[in-house]
Amino acid sequence: MTDRKDFLKAYSGEPLRFMEVCGTHTAEISRNGITELLPPEISLISGPGCPVCVTVTDYIDRLVWLARQPETTVVSFGDLLRVPGSRESLADARADGGSVKMAYSPLDILKMAKSEPKRTYVFAAVGFETTAPVYAVLLENAIAQGIENIRLLTSLKTMPPVIDWVCGNGSRIDGFLAPGHVSVITGSHVFQKLAEKHGLPFVIAGFDGEQLLAAVYTLVKCRGRAGAVNLYRSAVTEEGNKRAQAAVEHFFEPCGAAWRGIGIIPSSGLRLREAYARFDAGSMGLDSDREHNPLCRCAQILTGAQTPVSCPLFGTECTPQHPQGACMVSAEGSCYQYAVHH
Ligand code: SF4
Repeated sequence: MTDRKDFLKAYSGEPLRFMEVCGTHTAEISRNGITELLPPEISLISGPGCPVCVTVTDYIDRLVWLARQPETTVVSFGDLLRVPGSRESLADARADGGSVKMAYSPLDILKMAKSEPKRTYVFAAVGFETTAPVYAVLLENAIAQGIENIRLLTSLKTMPPVIDWVCGNGSRIDGFLAPGHVSVITGSHVFQKLAEKHGLPFVIAGFDGEQLLAAVYTLVKCRGRAGAVNLYRSAVTEEGNKRAQAAVEHFFEPCGAAWRGIGIIPSSGLRLREAYARFDAGSMGLDSDREHNPLCRCAQILTGAQTPVSCPLFGTECTPQHPQGACMVSAEGSCYQYAVHH
């Protein structure tokens, strides 16, 4: 580890920009002080890997609307509650009489729906490949138990298309720290394909400080070369988790999805298949992306074009206590991490 630290500290070649596209990596890089170990020539930038951050305003507005409908309750992960919609957040709607509940797992909704069969429970189904299998298990259970008053408002996204988009449209990137949790499900082969297509190194790593440092070291060593290196062999195989992939494929199919700051990327989302459309709460067509605060730079930050400190609201009007944008709400967001660790 010391050798790697020394190697990185001594690096004085051409400037290198590496992107991590996993919210947990963003959080762990900050928590482990990895950036402070690097010379100014090596930059780590966060990409669109925080599921809450990439969710568009239209989606939040629809949840707020649903929470105000009779006999309807919106159930959500805690961090989504504070994301500003165009006028209000789910937390605001709850304070104003809307029916909103927080859950730690999508499966929590089964008990709620069973205990009140006349009420419709809508889960705010955000997430990437890692969370999608849990929604598949939820639907399997709902069907097996005959629970019909569950709906999903889906904003599920998949990583390879957005990385492909960043490579083709974003700022210059010299390599990627591939998303660790997502790789467990997809397998490393999807990143090998992206690496070959864009002629860049991709390194798959776990989440402790040693793995993260090893990942940056490997990216520097492999710069200019195409290929995926898997440092997270304890959890990631080439083919991924086939069972989880099959469960997701059974209930969901690819669709175009709207990403905050990017717009619609073809085949980058998942929607319920026609056979399960009865569980959908009206997820399609939620594409509009008006920032709650027009000065918010989440869009530029999510694509690696700017860093949080370049936002005029950072640390003044926008803080973790009073977030103005999604990137300051989630603990996986880069603005939140900058605010807490810098
Ligand atoms: Fe948006 Fe706040 Fe980040 Fe600025 S600091 S980009 S307002 S979330």
